Amino acid sequence: MTKTNLNAFLQTCDQPISRESTEGKKTLDSLTLAVKDNIMVKDLPVTAGSKILDGHIASYSATVIERLLDAGAQIIGKTNLDEFAMGSSTENSAFGPTLNPWDQTRVPGGSSGGSAAAVADRLAQASLGSDTGGSIRQPAAFCGVTGLKPTYGSVSRYGLIALASSLDVIGPLAPSAETVEEVFAIISGQDPLDQTTVDYTYKPLEQSIDGLKIGLPRELWELYIDPEIKRSVEQHVHFYLEHGAVISDVSLPYLPYALAAYYIILPAEASANLARYDGIRYPHSQPGQTIAEIYKKTRGQGFGAEVKRRILLGSYVLSVGHYDEYYQKAQEVRNLIKRDYDNVFKSVDVLISRTTPTLPFALGSRTQDPLKMYQADLLTVGVNLAGLPAISLPSGFSQSGLPIGSQLIGRPFCENVLLSLAKQYQGETDHHQQQPKGTDG
Ligand code: GLN
Repeated sequence: MTKTNLNAFLQTCDQPISRESTEGKKTLDSLTLAVKDNIMVKDLPVTAGSKILDGHIASYSATVIERLLDAGAQIIGKTNLDEFAMGSSTENSAFGPTLNPWDQTRVPGGSSGGSAAAVADRLAQASLGSDTGGSIRQPAAFCGVTGLKPTYGSVSRYGLIALASSLDVIGPLAPSAETVEEVFAIISGQDPLDQTTVDYTYKPLEQSIDGLKIGLPRELWELYIDPEIKRSVEQHVHFYLEHGAVISDVSLPYLPYALAAYYIILPAEASANLARYDGIRYPHSQPGQTIAEIYKKTRGQGFGAEVKRRILLGSYVLSVGHYDEYYQKAQEVRNLIKRDYDNVFKSVDVLISRTTPTLPFALGSRTQDPLKMYQADLLTVGVNLAGLPAISLPSGFSQSGLPIGSQLIGRPFCENVLLSLAKQYQGETDHHQQQPKGTDG
């Protein structure tokens, strides 16, 4: 086990949770799995990183958990996250920040920071995260692991604590794309308990790189490019070039507006989803003389600053007089961004960019500056607005030894193309095999 204390887990199970074999050999063969603590596992506490859910025990398991247990996975614990998955550093957890295993003075990314750190430190073979604006890919990049954000509608959200329901998706993290694929094959597919899932069966693919058309979206390469990240992602592009891919520059003209649109749509949906935490339906409750006082005190005490900020923002952009000006406009921008992606995918098969604008930043360096924190999502949110699949994979290290991630983005339901390209890259490189010092594997 690890020699470090990263605060990656909010709780570890005394005995791993697993299921007796029902039929034949299980595909996942006792894979150890860590689960982000906004995904329900029956009879285990679930907090979403918030005091307001302290004491709440899940009364059912998420569909993804049912499927993974049936396939032979063993759940070893629940991992830390930014409160209700709002954040890019895991510092918004009510239970303290997770540390980056590569440098414990730095953040692991977020909001699935605990899931990424647990896998990077080899405490679990794989983990589950959720990605609403980058929360699987950004921590995967910061912790030097592989993380898949599936197409919206390919994985059931039943049993995921909702943040923004039109953007949320559950996905796997693991050191290698091979393990990510094994988990994705199990969790994906239609679920009658989530009406937004589609009839879809994952089929692995051997994607030939020779002749494959890869686009470099100008907008994702030009803004605030860090020279070390640029070099590393360029080497990744070079790998495909050497194997016969045709590389071209492409443009997604509306992408620069993605972050602004996201930070209107997300708070709007979150403010509605979080209305249920009222001091009546969940254990955490503050006494009051009137129902309004119970709500006010419970929510005032139970939610952290970032959650309150987004509830206020969301209520504002949905209110009469502001709805057209903000929410409606953001939805129009979302459509334009979706159209931009549809257009580029007429001429290229896959897009490549870096996953993050910067290297993992220092703990505490952005907590007082929400806009700076939001900028960490600059390169990931467009994919969520358009509902596309994307994978972040380790593509190198900075001179200071910090991991760098690159991002492959594909057409809807083309996870198999992304995973095949990632596996071929990982077959000839070893960035994903590197482990932080202080671990013994
Ligand atoms: N960092 C983004 C945010 O704070 C993404 C969150 C997510 O994907 N859950 O909203």
